[in-house]
Amino acid sequence: MLAIRAPHGHRSRSVKVAKSHKTPLETGILVLAWVGFFMPLLWLASPVLSFTEYPPGIGPLVAGVICFVIGLWLFYRSHADLGTNWSITLEVREQHRLITQGVYRRIRHPMYLALVLYSVGHALVIPNWVAGSSNLVAFTILFGLRVRAEEKMMADEFGDEYTAYTARTKRLVPGVW
Ligand code: SAH
Repeated sequence: MLAIRAPHGHRSRSVKVAKSHKTPLETGILVLAWVGFFMPLLWLASPVLSFTEYPPGIGPLVAGVICFVIGLWLFYRSHADLGTNWSITLEVREQHRLITQGVYRRIRHPMYLALVLYSVGHALVIPNWVAGSSNLVAFTILFGLRVRAEEKMMADEFGDEYTAYTARTKRLVPGVW
């Protein structure tokens, strides 16, 4: 994930931020997301989480790897489609364009769907209740606290164009929600 994001992050940082909607709450949820993301390393590197381990199984491992493959593909595609409009937080860049094509054609948050799949993959392949679920818990909180604010920011910025886009798309699951 870090390797996929690095070149896109580098490119979008070269475009100036026109409006930042980064609140202290946003900073808090980003810190939480990083903690969730790196918790498996703590499990690998030290015995502190060994008391929440359980026996691994081949079924969850295979299902988890499938989630990783689909999640990483979608993560890559959503970065490629967003281009320099991407930000790690709530920001509008100079000459920001509303992307409605590619993986954004049927859902408004394909990158968040990619993060859900990746987090579910973590939960399935890591045989530890805490280190396995940490990403999913952190991401669920991030999504719950962010999605309305992000959609309001986009509606304020793009007006009717975003309202029309919202009317013909779903948030995470095509045709469902
Ligand atoms: N929620 C989207 C994008 C996550 S990155 C997804 O899950 O795919 C967050 C940033 O992307 C926001 O700050 C906003 O500036 C930008 N953004 C979100 N949706 C966008 C869209 N359809 N077109 C252009 N920029 C978008």
